[in-house]
Amino acid sequence: MSEFMMNTYAQWPVTFVSGNGVYLTDDQNNTYLDCVAGIAVNALGYKDAGLTDALQEVLNQGILHVSNLYYNAYVKEAAKKLTTLAEMEKAFFCNSGAEANEAALKLARKWGHPKNKSTIISMIDSFHGRTYAAVTATGQKKYHQHFDPLPSGFVYAHFNDLDSIISLIDRNTCAIIVEPIQGEGGIVPATEEFLQGLRNLCDEHDLLLIYDEVQCGMGRTGKAFASQGYNVKPDILTTAKALAGGVPAGAMLTNKKTSDVFAPGDHASTFGGNALATKAISYMCDRLSDEALLKHIKETGDHLNKKLNDLKAQFPTLITDVRGMGLIQGIALTITPKDVVSKCFEKKLLLASAGSNVVRFVPPLIITKEEIDKAIAILQESLEELLRK
Ligand SMILES: *Cc1c(COP(=O)(O)O)cnc(C)c1O
Repeated sequence: MSEFMMNTYAQWPVTFVSGNGVYLTDDQNNTYLDCVAGIAVNALGYKDAGLTDALQEVLNQGILHVSNLYYNAYVKEAAKKLTTLAEMEKAFFCNSGAEANEAALKLARKWGHPKNKSTIISMIDSFHGRTYAAVTATGQKKYHQHFDPLPSGFVYAHFNDLDSIISLIDRNTCAIIVEPIQGEGGIVPATEEFLQGLRNLCDEHDLLLIYDEVQCGMGRTGKAFASQGYNVKPDILTTAKALAGGVPAGAMLTNKKTSDVFAPGDHASTFGGNALATKAISYMCDRLSDEALLKHIKETGDHLNKKLNDLKAQFPTLITDVRGMGLIQGIALTITPKDVVSKCFEKKLLLASAGSNVVRFVPPLIITKEEIDKAIAILQESLEELLRK
């Protein structure tokens, strides 16, 4: 606890001081196996030599930041590498997932303005961030309560249910925002038919399709972006979390239809495209352009999925479902996920919950099969103890 920090988080009583690979060390010299990775942020784990060197290079130049009144030496390269990796056209840089979505929603509204279209369709159980438009797009009442009045023009459909989307589309509809894999909502992948159906509806009704890949992007699924595994393209893609390997950064990526909607003065961010962040983004893009890393993610992801399914077979009364792709996986439980996370925490394994009944695995993408086995062994022990209670 800190008497000087606002009470916005239910925090575990631990203070981390250093990290190496998939391990974190606290101020009592305890070591934890980390399957949270800063909530899908620390994709390369801790103390990655290449990332450290890249950041050091910027520090040595003495220019952390110059503002968007000018270019810095790193931002153009980051834009080129990131748009290439994502197969999009242009980038707008900001500092977080919420900000990336805020930019996307503002762009969609400006795009729709001359056509008198402004309504945004988002999904129930989605998560898009905590700023006003992003939290309004978030289809979970618990994040809305106490904060009325919310911005208007948002409606909510059921994820993976095209009929529920169709019933909401009218002549005011402007855009659909969706996570290809719902993260905070409980690790729920979209079906191929759903994303393809959304694309078709957007083309038919002249709507923008926005993918929020803040959590599922940047290699998590074994593709650079989760949607590349579906082969269905958006008009706008947002990314953050792992984008700069732990340096705060977000980005909105656009295509031919959306790249020229904003003009100077429409939108901005003081820190967006900052030298330190964009150097880190370029470095992350280089790493994710390496087929060997993507292959490693797919293989370790399959291994994790298999091990979790083994646990499901062993604990059929506790685990009802195993879901996910690559290294974003979740187990649905009949018991409170916090009890499992808490037991594992005692045994020095870091896990996080998602939704009301899911424990999520979003470890560093460099995790090995042996490290996964170690995590599974701790989880198994924890489930055995919880079952005995
Ligand atoms: C975490 C998350 C956000 C919000 O990102 P912040 O950086 O916390 O603002 C938005 N969308 C998704 C899918 C996320 O997982």
